[in-house]
Amino acid sequence: MGLPEVLDRIERACRRAGRDPRGVRLVAVTKGHSVPEIQERVLRYGAFPLGESRIQEALPKLAVLAAEWHYIGPLQRNKAKFAVRFELVHSVDSLRLAETLARKACEAGKVQRVLLELNLGREPQKHGFLEEELAEVLPRVRELEGLRVEGLMTVAPYTENSEEVRPIFARLSRLADAFGLAERSMGMSGDFEVAVEEGATLVRVGRALFEPG
Ligand SMILES: *Cc1c(COP(=O)(O)O)cnc(C)c1O
Repeated sequence: MGLPEVLDRIERACRRAGRDPRGVRLVAVTKGHSVPEIQERVLRYGAFPLGESRIQEALPKLAVLAAEWHYIGPLQRNKAKFAVRFELVHSVDSLRLAETLARKACEAGKVQRVLLELNLGREPQKHGFLEEELAEVLPRVRELEGLRVEGLMTVAPYTENSEEVRPIFARLSRLADAFGLAERSMGMSGDFEVAVEEGATLVRVGRALFEPG
């Protein structure tokens, strides 16, 4: 598909939903791709935020590519000190992780921007809070010095037909509204247009940017 086509599709999805395209940011997911590939497939089109899902793979890229880096993958607490090098961490999935991140952020002298990950599909293999936990967890995370909770994130269940996950995205938006959170990180290569129609402010797209064409 390539990045220009992805942007075009985001814009058309915005138009269908009556949204301003400036309200959606494309996070280019660069896992599995080298720095030259990232330059060729992403950065030649502009300074897009870049997303990585494994600390070990990401650190060498952060060292050489000046970009707005986002961490989107599962995060072990013993790697939290590295995660605070990222601008935004999308994947806070436990209170203990939030506490550790807050401590590391304070040590680094920064306020770490984070999203809370929700497992809205209730899939046992997926990370994230259950939606009924949010009302209890959110105030506790909001209290932590060193963290700023800006929104919610979800990875929708895998499906061939993205219409099937529309209710999941709609639910994330409703929850973000209900809790006064601005950012909704949802939508990947297979389902980002539906996510945009349902209110995504950050779409995390990888494969579609790097496949030929
Ligand atoms: C890899 C990944 C993406 C991007 O998925 P694609 O299908 O390659 O677009 C988005 N979010 C998370 C959390 C990922 O790990």
